[in-house]
Order: sequence, then C-alpha cells, then structure tokens
Amino acid sequence: MENKFGKWGLKNQKEAKFTIRDLLETMKKELKKDDERPVIHLGNGDPSAYSCFRTTPVAEEAVNGALRSAKFNGYAPAAGLPEARRAVAGFLSKDLPYELSEEDIFITAGAAHAIELILTVLTRPGTNILLPRPGYPSYEAHSAYIGLEVRHFDLLPEKGWEVDLDGVEALADDNTVAMVVINPGNPSGSVFSLEHLQRIAETAKRLGIVLISDEVYYDLVFGGNKFVPMGVFGSVTPVVSLGTMSKRWLVPGWRLGWIALSDPNGILRKYGITECIKKYRNISADSTTLIQGAIPEILEKTPKDFISNIMVLLREAADTCYSKIIEIPFLDLHHKPQGAMSTMVKLNLQMLEGIEDDMDFCYRLAKEESVLILPGSALGLKNWLRISFAADLASLEEGLERIKAFCFRHSNMIT
Ligand SMILES: *Cc1c(COP(=O)(O)O)cnc(C)c1O
Repeated sequence: MENKFGKWGLKNQKEAKFTIRDLLETMKKELKKDDERPVIHLGNGDPSAYSCFRTTPVAEEAVNGALRSAKFNGYAPAAGLPEARRAVAGFLSKDLPYELSEEDIFITAGAAHAIELILTVLTRPGTNILLPRPGYPSYEAHSAYIGLEVRHFDLLPEKGWEVDLDGVEALADDNTVAMVVINPGNPSGSVFSLEHLQRIAETAKRLGIVLISDEVYYDLVFGGNKFVPMGVFGSVTPVVSLGTMSKRWLVPGWRLGWIALSDPNGILRKYGITECIKKYRNISADSTTLIQGAIPEILEKTPKDFISNIMVLLREAADTCYSKIIEIPFLDLHHKPQGAMSTMVKLNLQMLEGIEDDMDFCYRLAKEESVLILPGSALGLKNWLRISFAADLASLEEGLERIKAFCFRHSNMIT
C-alpha cells in the first residue's frame, strides 16, 4: 500500500497557522548583516531580554533553596505538587470573594501548556471556540492541530478594545464550547472595567459556554482601570483562568503556569470537565518539579515593591511609546495602553509609498532599520502593528525613532 505521509503531513502543515515565534524567526533572516546599529527587539514579549527587567532575588533564592534541598528531584504528581497548588490557590484567593482550594489548581508548563490543555479537553468532533481578534495566535495554532473550529469576535479599538458582545452572541451556536478573553490585553494593552467583565460573564452564562480568562498579565496595570480577575464572577458562570510566572515574575524560561477553576457552584465538576482536565494532565508534559518546589516561597515572599517597580518601568515605557507614536503621522494609536506589555497601532498605508501591507512594512523595517515588530495580520488585524514596550527606555526610544525615520523615508506626502 502506498504510504499516506504526504497526505497527512502536508495537510497539517497547511492547517497549522504560524505563531509569533515562526514569524519573528523569518523576520530575523531579513536583518541586515552590515548594520552597525544594534538590533532592537520590540516584537516578542520576553522582558528578560532587557537587564532592567530582572526577577526578584527572592525568586532566585527560592529556586536555589529548592535545588539544594534535594527534595524536588523526583516526579511531581500530575496535577502538580500539593504545596505548589495550595500556594497558587492562596495567591489567587486574596483577590476573590471566595477561597480556591488545592483541588481547583492544576500546575502546567507555562500558560502555553495551559492553553493546550484546556483546548484539548474541550474539543470534540464538530465543536467550535470563540476567540478575540486581535488575539494571541497560540490559540489559533493549537486549535488547528486538534481540529477545533475557530470563530473570531472583534475587540473594538474605539471602545478601548472592549469585546463586541453582540458579535459574540451572533457567532455562538449549539456546538460552541468556550470563549476566550485576555485581560490585561495582549496585544492591545487594554484593561477591562469591572462592569465590562461582568457583561462578558453574563454573556457566557446566557450562551452556556465555558469562559476561559487568560490572565498571564495578572495585576500588571499602570493607568486607569484596576485589574479585576474574571474569577470574581465565578458564581455567575464557571471561569477557567490561565496564569503564569512568565510575565509577572519576568522568567518565561522557568516554565511554570497554572489553570485555576473558579467554580464555586461546582458546575465544571458536575459535568466532568474537572475530571477530564485531571485525566489529560496525567498524559501531558509536566512543569519541572524544581520550580514547583520554589513557588510557595516565591508567592509568599515576593516584596510588593518588586511588582510596583515593574509597573513604574512599564508605565514609563507605555508613556514613551505613546508620546513617540503620536509624533508619527503614519501611525494611529487609538488607545493608550493601560496594562500588559504591548500596544496596537494602525498603519496609514495610503500615506506610504510602495509599502504593500503590514507584513511588507515589518519585513522592510527589519531589513532597513534593524527593528523587529509584529504585523497585525499575525494577530488577525491586517494593516495594524503590534509594538511590545517591555524594553529599556533607551532601546524603545531608539526603536521608535527608527520607525519614524523609516516612515518619513517612504512617505508620499509633499513636504
Ligand atoms: C506570553 C503569553 C502566554 C504564554 O505564557 P507562557 O507562560 O510563557 O507559556 C499566553 N497568553 C498570553 C496572552 C501571553 O502573552
């Protein structure tokens, strides 16, 4: 019999959408070899690339202690070390109207793994999921591999990137299993108000779907709205929250995240979803036991001023981004970022000569100016750009100056 490798391999290759990593890798190939200026990375959200974004010594000591104790060299239980689960439950409960328990927490290898886990558990033949546009492309890429149909609802730039809830209602049908919200927002830098979060929760309840809340930027807010975890509305509708150490503690390489089930009425348990997560956790990869061993001390002892200092840095960076971008007539920033680490700007293509679209803009910017940013197409919004501002101020200013110079050089305006 003829082999079927081509049939399935090629099919999967086509379905597996590109991720941020893929795209940045191909853009890096465009970088000019003979540019004496340093490459400026405003493309991915890895703050640890800049020395001003270093984690707290408390976290480094905790990992050191865990390593030397020799207590964390073995396998952890599939759901995670009990003390790690209890520590995360305690950390999240302080912002909730009820207590989470150890049983409500599943430790994962970062939030990326949490995404994979919850999408896999919810997928059955014919099911679909509602995802935000613009969004975080891992959701789309993973859905493509597991055969989960994706339907996009809009985030509205003119309304501070709030969810278009009428759109959500129009998209959902009997086979819709869940919707995803990302708050604080990547890529938009938005922070939803309490009222908007409540309306989202009520919509999910009305549609009878699981509400997945990506809270990777937990509490990383620096202007306007306060951060409210979606779990506050767990008694309206069950909430599956995804969290991680990656961004809040500036250590994406440590690979420790979690799924938290805010479900005080026990609905997820009643319908077997909790059990399904538990079973799938048994067969999927683990977070390293070492970091799990350190997490209780990290969560307990991280000083308040560590987070407030990050917030100061991010606020300054966001302000710099804002004031520089409004100087560039070719770019529109609709909404000043209030949280997370990136912002979306609209490209005024009609003012630029010979630039085809956002992809072309980003590739040529890499080639001519050694600056990396992400095309909005990668996140579902053509002819927009995502700029990550988790960088030191000097690099950020220099990067934005180069973007400005690039735009003026390609301008078709009569000056
Ligand atoms: C960075 C990020 C993730 C992935 O987090 P990891 O813990 O590094 O796997 C997931 N969702 C969003 C919105 C992110 O920005």
